[in-house]
Amino acid sequence: MVLPFLRRDRYEVPLQCRPLTRVVLPFAFGDGVLMNSFSVKSNYREEMIDITSQVAAEIPDGSGICVLFTQHTTCGLTINENADPDVQSDMLGFLNRLIPQYDEHFKHFEHNSDAHIKSSLVGSSVTVPFEKGKLLLGRWQGIYLCEFDGPRERTVLVQMMNAE
Ligand code: ZN
Repeated sequence: MVLPFLRRDRYEVPLQCRPLTRVVLPFAFGDGVLMNSFSVKSNYREEMIDITSQVAAEIPDGSGICVLFTQHTTCGLTINENADPDVQSDMLGFLNRLIPQYDEHFKHFEHNSDAHIKSSLVGSSVTVPFEKGKLLLGRWQGIYLCEFDGPRERTVLVQMMNAE
């Protein structure tokens, strides 16, 4: 994948090997990046936890994009409806019917292969734009940490890039 803002002429090594710090972005990057993290405690093996307010608390004044990332392999991050809790239970229920915890073909010794698969399907990152200090989420959207192998304490990294 070639991103349009990469200045390819500056590098000798293949694109995949370049450290992130050497990527040149089109806007001021130095002081415009904030990195933080917060922890999320899950109470059940599988659970969708609304982390929107924790993310919103990290957003600085100004406009830009917010990247959320988890360094875990058995949970995920997603954005979906925050009005009807049945949406969350339907999502977890459907994933469970699709990927049951125990399958005779699973070999992984921890017996949590289902959680690893769900984590990859859901993804470990979401990106949300913000403007004037507010997340530009839709009216019915919330940001969720999807726990697939709890209860555990999870960490969410938050990186904010100021576009002004
Ligand atoms: Zn495992």
